Amino acid sequence: MTTTLEQQDAKQRTRLDWQREAACGNINAHAADQIFFVSRGRPSKTPAYRKFCDACPVKQECFFHAIVHHEKGVWGGATSDERALIPEDFVEYHQDRARREGWFEEGKMSKERQLTAVAQKRALDSIVENLDSFLASILPSDE
Ligand code: SF4
Repeated sequence: MTTTLEQQDAKQRTRLDWQREAACGNINAHAADQIFFVSRGRPSKTPAYRKFCDACPVKQECFFHAIVHHEKGVWGGATSDERALIPEDFVEYHQDRARREGWFEEGKMSKERQLTAVAQKRALDSIVENLDSFLASILPSDE
């Protein structure tokens, strides 16, 4: 994929919108598993997913969805191993963009990020709890 940052900034639709146009949309689950999860077996110079992804009208949106959400398997014509080579700051840039544009799927956050979010919520809850007890200690009681 040879796109510039400006081209990549073209507004992306949500997955529910672009996935309807996917070239792989009518493949049954078993065949999709064989074609788009290529870690098993010997690597091929002409893997079966190329036939679908190379002609897919939503290849770019599929690719950016996958890097932003750390998907597994082939998305946008790239394998998980290929996407793992993408620098983290590039991924974070597009995650911020996804949040701004409304196509970030919170439920798909990585486990590590989910744990960070939980830790942040606990810290906030603790601050609020302590704030309540502090306020209770300085405000006059009803008695
Ligand atoms: S780029 Fe490939 S994996 Fe993505 S929707 Fe198109 S055919 Fe499916």
